[in-house]
Amino acid sequence: MTTTQRESTPVTADTFDVVNPGTGAVVGSYPIHTSGDIAELLDQAREAQVWWAAQGFGGRQRIMTRWVRWLAAHAEEIYALGNSETARPIGDVQMEFIAGLEDIRWTAANAERVLRRRKVAPGIAFTNFAADVVHEPLGVVGIITPWNVPIYTVLSGAACALAAGNTVIVKPSELSAGAGAFVIDGFHKANPDAPAGVLSYVHGLGETGAALCKSGVDKLAFTGSVPTGRRVMAACAENLTPVVLELGGKDATIIAEDADLEAASTAVVWGAFFNGGQACVGVERVYVVRAVRDEFLELVRTKAEKVTAGLDDGVSYGPMITPGQVEIVRRHIDAAVAGGATALVGGPESVKPPFVHPVVLVDVPEDNPAVCEETFGPVVVINTATDVDDAIRQANSTSFGLGASVFSRKRGAEIAGRMRAGGVTVNAVLSFVGMPSVPFGGVGDSGFGRFHGDAGLREFTYAKSTVRKKFSMGPNVQEFPRTAEHYDVIRKTIRMRYERKFRG
Ligand code: NAD
Repeated sequence: MTTTQRESTPVTADTFDVVNPGTGAVVGSYPIHTSGDIAELLDQAREAQVWWAAQGFGGRQRIMTRWVRWLAAHAEEIYALGNSETARPIGDVQMEFIAGLEDIRWTAANAERVLRRRKVAPGIAFTNFAADVVHEPLGVVGIITPWNVPIYTVLSGAACALAAGNTVIVKPSELSAGAGAFVIDGFHKANPDAPAGVLSYVHGLGETGAALCKSGVDKLAFTGSVPTGRRVMAACAENLTPVVLELGGKDATIIAEDADLEAASTAVVWGAFFNGGQACVGVERVYVVRAVRDEFLELVRTKAEKVTAGLDDGVSYGPMITPGQVEIVRRHIDAAVAGGATALVGGPESVKPPFVHPVVLVDVPEDNPAVCEETFGPVVVINTATDVDDAIRQANSTSFGLGASVFSRKRGAEIAGRMRAGGVTVNAVLSFVGMPSVPFGGVGDSGFGRFHGDAGLREFTYAKSTVRKKFSMGPNVQEFPRTAEHYDVIRKTIRMRYERKFRG
């Protein structure tokens, strides 16, 4: 079989290795699953879905709670796996793990409230009817996940789909296959009586992901880069499989004149460099209002200079995941400097593969790749805005719209309301990611569809309407022949209900 190979993923005909990007050590070897393997799993998942749906909301909550307990009891093994596969410090792995646990707990506890059958008004033409709407599971959901938050993206997507009554097949990233498989295995280990196929996974590279898209799953939730997202959507179009796309970002932070600059600089430095900047919602651009620019830059410089990259205990973040990702970061830094930017911290010399040490670029032209494209590395651009209106204009100027943040003592809510992003944080950064009750997802090139929150549960269902005739009422507009009385009733109804009211 041919495979779409990412650099640093050693591949044979039917296996691939996971390599620690910091040490180069092979830390796992996994089979490459084919479309035939996926077809078998899909059959199993379809059968299991009947059982899973029959558990009802309460039964599913009990089963998912056992899974959460199992995961929490195996936290140390999960941290070790997350660390060995991606060389991220345990603190970064912990952050995504707790967010994932919270999503399972919340979705299981709230699915009934959001999805249960509810009565709705039948409307003027059908006052003799009762009507209700229920959100039904779609069936089997395919989930494809990235390497950078390999535990959270598996847990969060699976939590929404499972709580809504679907069974799930995940394809974890080939760069972090072990962590994904471990947390999925935990579901059945915690629930040995559940039939195989409630939550399962396939391993492989891009081709296995593409096969999952074309397999006939009832929905495909993809988290990853924009170019792969385009391929996923095209592949899913073959079977009209609906998709959720959780893609990249170029998140902006606005620093208003009345911001708490001490808090803002601390948050921006963390938001830009945690996970080595390899975060979809990492802070990549900052727009600071001119009046507070110099003070803010000095605070950022002092704090960013203390941020460290490496493999030792106590470092702030680890290596870049692949040589290709290092080159994207290098290209953006070089382009910014060539375009006239000032390197406030670090610069082109900060790129020392597999590490990129912290880089803060100031005054980067708006059309520069470092401003327009996702960098996905430990680089932050800080540009100056004449005022808040100018900052909002610049913040909203990319094709992305995943997350955003604003620091302002008095105008936070107002400024947040004018930013084009799926989630905005006021006086902190990216906090919405860790809140299971708020929907998470983007607009524009950052994708569409939502994980967590009420919208994340509905995402993995279809709305089904049932209307029931309670008694007959004349004249019946749903019968032939139409009489003068039929026309007259509708004419009068339109006049009374719409025309008079709207006359104002
Ligand atoms: P990627 O797009 O390279 O890979 C993601 C997954 O897609 C992997 O499992 C990969 O095997 C699979 N894949 C590759 N080719 C495929 C194909 N043709 N069909 C189906 N699947 C295919 O992304 P990555 O490098 O693992 O992750 C980084 C990207 O993910 C960044 O752009 C980041 O912003 C984004 N991301 C987004 C979110 C979000 O929630 N919006 C969260 C985390 C990461």
